Amino acid sequence: MTEHTLTVAGVAVDTRHWIGGERVASTETFPDVSPIDGSVLGEISRGTAMEVAAAVAAAKAAFPAWAATPRAERARILHAVADGVEKRLEELAIVETTDNGALLRSHRRGVMPRVAHNFRFFADWLLKLEHEDFETRGHTNHVSWDPAGPSVLITPWNAPLMLATWKVAPALAAGNTVILKPAEWTPLTASLLADIAAEAGLPAGVLNVVQGYGSEIGDALTSHPDVRRISFTGSVPTARRIAASAAANLTPLSLELGGKSPLLVFADADLDLAADLAVEQYDNAGQVCLAATRFLVEESVAEEFTRRFVEKAGQLTQGDPRDEATDIGPNIHPRQLEKIDGFVQRALASGARAVIGGHRKGAQYYAPTLLTDVAQDSEIVQEEVFGPVLTLQTFATEAEAVRLANDTRFGLAATLATGDPERAERVTAQLVAGTVWTNCFFVRDLQAPFGGSRHSGVGREGGTWSFDFYCDVKNTVTAPNGWRNHG
Ligand code: NAD
Repeated sequence: MTEHTLTVAGVAVDTRHWIGGERVASTETFPDVSPIDGSVLGEISRGTAMEVAAAVAAAKAAFPAWAATPRAERARILHAVADGVEKRLEELAIVETTDNGALLRSHRRGVMPRVAHNFRFFADWLLKLEHEDFETRGHTNHVSWDPAGPSVLITPWNAPLMLATWKVAPALAAGNTVILKPAEWTPLTASLLADIAAEAGLPAGVLNVVQGYGSEIGDALTSHPDVRRISFTGSVPTARRIAASAAANLTPLSLELGGKSPLLVFADADLDLAADLAVEQYDNAGQVCLAATRFLVEESVAEEFTRRFVEKAGQLTQGDPRDEATDIGPNIHPRQLEKIDGFVQRALASGARAVIGGHRKGAQYYAPTLLTDVAQDSEIVQEEVFGPVLTLQTFATEAEAVRLANDTRFGLAATLATGDPERAERVTAQLVAGTVWTNCFFVRDLQAPFGGSRHSGVGREGGTWSFDFYCDVKNTVTAPNGWRNHG
């Protein structure tokens, strides 16, 4: 370990920013704490407006050459980044697990392969992106996807590298340069990504990483006049601050925010499948934006569904996320645990009943919890907890199920368990949600749009939707008969 390096399970991670192809240290630092045991992993450079200005200047300087780099060459470099991710997959997995507490087995088998796939997918999609031509009275309308410019990408701690690369890959593919600001609770894999990108041949200044507290450098990032796009994944209150700050320059925003998504279980559902879908909602200790945290179950099967759910939940093991047998790891931070417990205790005090859980488990964990006897307008039903806390309500009719499902300020996702395809179609058409899953959960093709309605977000990313956001789409109209306009 040197002054500017920390080591996690033998993997050296640089604790400084990455600006203009160089490591840059701040005078101040902040501690990075592992949620597994509360140990301090090291001290990270604590960015200020000065480093933000340097990173935006580097991204601005690198932009013309990167934007002019042929698509095939940009795609080649993105594939080389994916190769680097795959080569260092084990290292990325253990560092991420140590930093954010999510399961090592998921990082190895699902998350890090998906990180590599993010780069490959957007590299390939870039080559397929069509330049559409239309014709109007003999005039050709030619649509092109021009890179927009330096892009600020701000990400949360619950799936750090996966969510960062979900933005970094399309932004770079589009020809933009990037200033990535990872969450202060999980700064490490973004630093490793900078190394991997440099080794893959990404030119200096095309990807910059600035570490630090959002409350301290967020405004400098989002109000900068040279920033052309801001993509943010995180909470609603932060999104409001970012939108206000970006308003000064009318900088286009993509906002992927929180949720309070429902799981609707109809009496005609395969109840075993429904219970499997239900226990999946404890994944990542409940720290998943898309989690279906509100079970809405048809009255006639509520008792049987609950019985099967409790049986399956009882089989989950909670403990060290590095252990292959663990199903639920720790929550990210003592402050998050306090927040989770606050929600649960207020719900219990106002009449909710804990079917399972309802309490902390030691210093780092929260017991998987299911609360029932909850009112639709109560805090526990309306607000995102972001922990392993689920609620169960019943409904008598399909119309009531839809009404309850839509009755929050969010609209990120919904999951249906039903054996009736016509019902699925009818209900889906009435749900306010960016994604609806029927008899499945969490599966998604990267070509498909992703985002939320209402307070769950603004805009969509994924496939062409990502390029729509990261590009300045241009229409060029050319006169017929050679170059003379007979309009
Ligand atoms: P958060 O809003 O507290 O922080 C997210 C990021 O914003 C961090 O990097 C933080 O440093 C930064 N930030 C904080 N203040 C800022 C400011 N004033 N200006 C600019 N940046 C600022 O969110 P969190 O607690 O890290 O993440 C959890 C939230 O993220 C939950 O609400 C969850 O639902 C949501 N989330 C949404 C999705 C999605 O795709 N819709 C995915 C994952 C998480």
